[in-house]
Amino acid sequence: MAEINLKTLKIRVEKEIEKVKSLEELNEIFNKYLGKKGELTLVLHSLEKLPKAKRIQIGRSANELKIFLRAEFEKKSKEIKEEIHKALEEKEWLDITAPGKRPSVGHLHPLTLAKRKIEEIFQSMGFSVVEGPSMEKEWYNFDALNIPKDHPARDAWDTFYLKNGLILRTHTTPVDVRYMEKNNPPLRIIIPGACFRHEATDASHESDFYQVDGLMVDKKISVANFKAIVGEFFKRFFEKDVKFRLKPDFFPFTEPSFDIGISCLVCGGKGCSACKNSGWMEVAGAGMVHPNVFKNSKLIPRDWQGWAFGFGLERLTMLKYKINDIRLLRSGDLRFLNQF
Ligand SMILES: [Zn+2]
Repeated sequence: MAEINLKTLKIRVEKEIEKVKSLEELNEIFNKYLGKKGELTLVLHSLEKLPKAKRIQIGRSANELKIFLRAEFEKKSKEIKEEIHKALEEKEWLDITAPGKRPSVGHLHPLTLAKRKIEEIFQSMGFSVVEGPSMEKEWYNFDALNIPKDHPARDAWDTFYLKNGLILRTHTTPVDVRYMEKNNPPLRIIIPGACFRHEATDASHESDFYQVDGLMVDKKISVANFKAIVGEFFKRFFEKDVKFRLKPDFFPFTEPSFDIGISCLVCGGKGCSACKNSGWMEVAGAGMVHPNVFKNSKLIPRDWQGWAFGFGLERLTMLKYKINDIRLLRSGDLRFLNQF
């Protein structure tokens, strides 16, 4: 009886081992047959009760089966471990010949690119790059530039007044005066810097923006001289021949004053929506330095002549890169910025 039981037991265990998929399952089956209270263990424990001849015969078979099954369990356990290892290897496989991932490299903001280009062009024409304070005295921002307190022109600049008695400069032109106070002509400078005006934001206005002022002072300086330099600048900045014109305008600190317009970069002057069908785009204000500005800068007006201009950095950047909304420049939107 017991011998037949051992044979069927062997077949049963072999079948169960074959189906096993995990080490946990295998362990369960091991305990079921070979554990402390396992089926085969109980058979071995019950041998004592048998007659001697039977006990030797079944005892040998049972022990052989025990050794055989242990080996089977061992074999299966090894198989499962190998499979786990293989799966892990596939998952964590490292291809040392694969090309590396390119790290994303940052780049300069379009306003910075345009500012550097402007500086580079003017420096090559003998101009120095000069800076001044963003918090400014009213004197430098207005009075010294021939805009006295009661002058209606002062209303044209919506100014931020600070508690410390200073203002946020509304243009970089005050640096003209600061520079002329300390440096004797002849001089050629450009002044890039942040400016602030209390204005509502729209597609072409920001309350803080960058201006690039330019100033050239010498014994004999004329509008013709100004035209030559600014023409060269446009050509190199926009990297093409750009027609430009000067239109009479009014600024308190220059006399005569003019608006600089360039032929539309979109339509080339034929007329389109970007230039409101005029064929021209206004890019800057300029003029010959007013005698009062020289006087306020401690220079003798009859000794010197000079011209000055004020470009909007955002305006030039937008024209160069064909950007239609000024707000994009400060949006921090990478989809926009990554195009530069
Ligand atoms: Zn146009």
